[in-house]
Amino acid sequence: MAPKVHVKKGDTVKVMAGDSAGKTGKVLEVYPDTQRVIIDGVNLIKKHARQSQKNPQGGVIERPGPLHVANVMVVCPSCDEAVRTGNMRANDGSTSRTCKRCGKAID
Ligand SMILES: [Zn+2]
Repeated sequence: MAPKVHVKKGDTVKVMAGDSAGKTGKVLEVYPDTQRVIIDGVNLIKKHARQSQKNPQGGVIERPGPLHVANVMVVCPSCDEAVRTGNMRANDGSTSRTCKRCGKAID
């Protein structure tokens, strides 16, 4: 089983390290196997695209590249800040993430 990642698709996260440090964006994809995430508008990499129906001009397109999950933190919707997350187990056995700063559930 792939190791657990503290971010999920749809989270707003802040990049804490690397070339994109300080940027925030929405998580588009999570790859637990490689411990990487794709964040909307962050770490843009230029790709040379061939002409296609989707991209009739061809040429260079920019798309967000993967970042290591260790370099991103979840932005708590309540605090509006990058925070550490904890796990809270509900009575039914499911876990949800909580903000370690304000204690509110993030999921
Ligand atoms: Zn919070």
